Amino acid sequence: MLTKLKYGNTNTYLIRGTGGNLLVDTDWAGTLPAFCRAIKAQNLQICDISWVLSTHYHPDHMGITADLTDLGVPLILFDVQLPYIHFSDSIYAKEKNRFYKPVDESRAKILRCGESRTFLASLGIAGEVIHTPGHSEDSISVILDDGNAVVGDLPPYSALAAEEDETVRNSYKEILSRGVTRLHYGHMVSERVK
Ligand SMILES: [Zn+2]
Repeated sequence: MLTKLKYGNTNTYLIRGTGGNLLVDTDWAGTLPAFCRAIKAQNLQICDISWVLSTHYHPDHMGITADLTDLGVPLILFDVQLPYIHFSDSIYAKEKNRFYKPVDESRAKILRCGESRTFLASLGIAGEVIHTPGHSEDSISVILDDGNAVVGDLPPYSALAAEEDETVRNSYKEILSRGVTRLHYGHMVSERVK
């Protein structure tokens, strides 16, 4: 089951499986207390989050990831994301954000997207993770077999007809070929696929 968790400016998502809970994206560094309140409202604690991953490593999608790993939540990185996981370090340094901690990749589980279905099945989640570049080179989408997809900051499907970026079009081709019926974004309201 997919639940939107909003405790700042970014839509983040919790996917509850029969064997664990996956957190997709986190908000800006410094939002850990607000995150804790948001999951408490879902009757969850930090220890109930089985894994965390980010759709991409822009600062508004990964800001408290290292806080969570320090609190014992394991991190999944996809191999396509590895060159970009420190993208936000200089942005947070520039704003002198005292809360930000860089991701420690040595403590992460690194997967290829092709391994994601088996991994998600271990949490009792039917679905997969696919590489969907377009907004950024490291963007991935979490596609659930029930038709829901978390696509992060991919430009909106509703504007696809006017989209000139071939990379975005190809990413949507991959997403839609998997029977997706509802798209969930990082900053916009969810859209139904027509
Ligand atoms: Zn972004």
